[in-house]
Amino acid sequence: MSSVRLLCGMLALAFLVVGCDDPNPDGDTESAESDTSTSAWSYEGQTGPENWASLSSEYAACGGEQQSPIDLADASEPTEDASLTTSYTTASGDVVDTGHAIQVNTTGDTLTYDGTSYELLQFHIHTPSEHTVEGDDYPAEIHLVHQAGNQQLAVLGIFVEEGEEAHPALEGWIQGRDTTLSVNPGRFLPDQQSYYTYEGSLTTPPCSEIVRWVVMDQPIQASEGQLETLRAKHDGNARPVQPLNDRQLVYVGP
Ligand SMILES: [Zn+2]
Repeated sequence: MSSVRLLCGMLALAFLVVGCDDPNPDGDTESAESDTSTSAWSYEGQTGPENWASLSSEYAACGGEQQSPIDLADASEPTEDASLTTSYTTASGDVVDTGHAIQVNTTGDTLTYDGTSYELLQFHIHTPSEHTVEGDDYPAEIHLVHQAGNQQLAVLGIFVEEGEEAHPALEGWIQGRDTTLSVNPGRFLPDQQSYYTYEGSLTTPPCSEIVRWVVMDQPIQASEGQLETLRAKHDGNARPVQPLNDRQLVYVGP
């Protein structure tokens, strides 16, 4: 990757066009890096995941060796500091439908992994899950996207399974209406904080390999109606799993 391209990627990150998304469709000021320099991509057909790497030179990393998501299996014990702490408070968030996912842009919350602090930029949701566990997916997966001062990202993944009750923290944004809401991302966290962690990439173009992934082992629950609401908007917005290659997947128990 050239330094120019890397810089452009970082600028794009700064404008919150990462994660799963084109710039905001309403063209607000956060979308100063417009999509005129990027190519359209999708989850099927000619512009689908199999072809992302060849759609644009900007997307070359999609053919890389450290891609996400992966199948979570055969994890090893941590040999280095893999400590995780979150500091989530109730803040306001702006809901957008990026065209690829429903997303909430927010600020002010932090995650600390291995002593490095990352600020929460946005969260969004995929149906079905992108990561799988020993080959099985979940109905949905929430991604909380955080960025450190050095531009590296930490994404916290939380699986969602179907349950009897609607999840209160999913209300108000999964419909994808353009609105502002009060939200505490900590309410997505499962009770038991055991997790898988590995080094990977964005799961959407440009697939930059700059992500510390932390995927919670225990799922949270959403109602059938909530999952149907999500699928009605973006059914199948999940990249297939990628090879682990020469990487270590670590499991940190409760
Ligand atoms: Zn995502």
